[in-house]
Amino acid sequence: MTLTTQLTTRDPASARLRCGLCAQRCLLPEGQVGRCGAILHHNDQLHALAAGRPVVLHADPIERKPLYHVFPGSSVLSLGTMGCTMSCSFCQNWRIAHARPDPEEPIIPITLEHAALSRTRKPIGTSCSAICNRQSTIVNGITPPEAIIRATLDQGCNGIAFTYNEPTIYLDYAAEIIQLAQAAEFFCIFKSNGYMTIEALELLPRFAAINIDLKSFSDSFYRRICGARLQPVLEVIEYLQRRGIWLEVTTLLIPRLNDSDEELRALTNWLAALSPEIPWHVWRFHPDYQLTHVPWTHVNAVERAISIGRAAGLRYVYASNIPGDPNQHTRCPTCGTPLIERIGNSTTSIRLNGDRCTACGWTLPGRFG
Ligand code: SF4
Repeated sequence: MTLTTQLTTRDPASARLRCGLCAQRCLLPEGQVGRCGAILHHNDQLHALAAGRPVVLHADPIERKPLYHVFPGSSVLSLGTMGCTMSCSFCQNWRIAHARPDPEEPIIPITLEHAALSRTRKPIGTSCSAICNRQSTIVNGITPPEAIIRATLDQGCNGIAFTYNEPTIYLDYAAEIIQLAQAAEFFCIFKSNGYMTIEALELLPRFAAINIDLKSFSDSFYRRICGARLQPVLEVIEYLQRRGIWLEVTTLLIPRLNDSDEELRALTNWLAALSPEIPWHVWRFHPDYQLTHVPWTHVNAVERAISIGRAAGLRYVYASNIPGDPNQHTRCPTCGTPLIERIGNSTTSIRLNGDRCTACGWTLPGRFG
């Protein structure tokens, strides 16, 4: 799949092409791949090597992304490929995010795992049937967008999630899937590091929601530990909020690296000033990849971060990766009624009338019903 030409510019002083998908803005000579390992300059064009090559494809609860204010209790066909636009040393999905697609060897490891979810199967609409009847088989290792729609239907999912590794590297492929999903009445969501360019985001058809990782509020952290910068991520979050796309934010809390009160106050004050309605997920770190010497985040540290977020004015602050923690529930900010209760990645009860609190009528922001 070739990269959208609007996002490819030519360096007038050389034969190199600049990729405009993410804020790395790599300048690539012929035959070279970008920092993500997934965009190749070949025959005077940029090619998205991960497009059409999912290496993970299975049904997940939407709560796992995490998206807590979007169709709670629904399941999403979760699609992941290889490569990433950042190089975080704490990556929790490093086996695929730091693997690289091989342009010489087509990848055909599509194994649909069923996550044993007891979800309601979506009825087959005529438009969905029509899409599924089109070419939907894997050819030369490339999975066409129609096959993703077919798999969504077969797995009994309500939507599609671009997740696990950074979807920016296959944005054109995602755009095609979103268009087909709209016709088939499936919703689409993203889990992203927020490092895509605004130009790239503007090329995407409308999608339901996105969860952005705000990994730290320190540019030094982003440079040293992620091979990236903070400011482009903040600009993407501001853009998504302005555009009215439902947005939730996640911070992986890593002991001694990004967990100081001062940094958490700065981060949550900034987020609350943007909107107190943006849900903020505090994700508990587990030792992985190059940070196996760093211990798990203590539960008390997650609770401290949650208190700081609430003190900053954020109305919906959650503990993630701590199954059974009461901070997983959504409470009505006015009367305290538990509106959505969760255990781990499962929604166990919903007390909403549409999007309103059944006790006091407060409107819960998000996408419901
Ligand atoms: S997606 Fe980002 S990292 Fe990959 S080639 Fe393009 S600018 Fe570079």
